[in-house]
Amino acid sequence: MKLNYWRFDLKLKHTFTISRSSRDVVPVILLKFEHEGITAYGEASPNARYNETTDTVAEFFGKIDPEELADPFRLERINEYLDSLSPHNASAKAAVDIAMHDWIGKKLGVPLYKFFGGEKCKTPLSTFTIGIDTPEAIVKKVKEAADYLVLKIKVGLPNDEEIIKAARSVTDKPLRVDANEGWKSKEEALDRITWLASQNVEFIEQPMPAAQLDDTRWLRESLSRRASGREVKMPIIADEALAYHDIATLSTAYDGINIKLQKNGGLLKSRKLIYAARAHGMKIMLGCMIESSVGISAAAHLSPLVDWNDLDGNVLISNDPFKGAANENGKIILNDEPGLGVVPLNSTSDL
Ligand code: MG
Repeated sequence: MKLNYWRFDLKLKHTFTISRSSRDVVPVILLKFEHEGITAYGEASPNARYNETTDTVAEFFGKIDPEELADPFRLERINEYLDSLSPHNASAKAAVDIAMHDWIGKKLGVPLYKFFGGEKCKTPLSTFTIGIDTPEAIVKKVKEAADYLVLKIKVGLPNDEEIIKAARSVTDKPLRVDANEGWKSKEEALDRITWLASQNVEFIEQPMPAAQLDDTRWLRESLSRRASGREVKMPIIADEALAYHDIATLSTAYDGINIKLQKNGGLLKSRKLIYAARAHGMKIMLGCMIESSVGISAAAHLSPLVDWNDLDGNVLISNDPFKGAANENGKIILNDEPGLGVVPLNSTSDL
């Protein structure tokens, strides 16, 4: 059995700006697990928001006793083992869990979406994400995304209205909006969302800081009372808050959750979250970090089980080292190869 990893810098086609950071390159770690003649892959895309870097991922991999991975079918036991090594390091755990799933699919000869009980025709349309930028650049990016049917727009800095107006000057497509905790007061969030509701916005993701649960609850209640008795229907989706509260608590303030494999530690834990959120009547969006086709394909296989897809992490990069699930203008196309259905491209095949 061999467990190897290598660092890889994903290059973004455009500088990507959200409310707390701006990036051109995203360093990830790709994992290769070889066992019983099967080669399986995983990926960690560590995020500073959760105190992770490629160094913390590498350090976590260094703690793993490969013998504990001898039977990948024992997914529950393996996830418990990974949790016993550290309470954190979600993206490093995701990489291992994804590789275990890839191995299982290959061993059984089935694509993962079948293993999860999904149907490949049921992948929800994925949004194409547009980062925070100047109005001129937003117009250009929206035009470039002409083939995508739904756009996700990042806001949360003082130029929100300008950004949405710029997008609206060139498209009438449905927009989904992500504030990435950008609005710090509940009154500000209420004003912004009330305005967004008039702009054909489908939902708002993480309007306020994750820790401000009471404020978010107030926000949801106020939205339903606002507009002179007319309810403002704008589902509020938890993203960053998912790392701080359990589903039962989140359901008191949010209408849905954004599940990301990298944030939740992989496919097994994310499936459990899907079922838990459904039990609380919540909607589910499947999101991603900037990831190669390894991480995105893993999420794509899970996506027939969710309401909304936001799986464009590999579309935003120019040097994807793998080929896997395809994204055709937002429609995620799963292939029927066993496991993840990903193959390394030439530049990485010798690694
Ligand atoms: Mg988000």
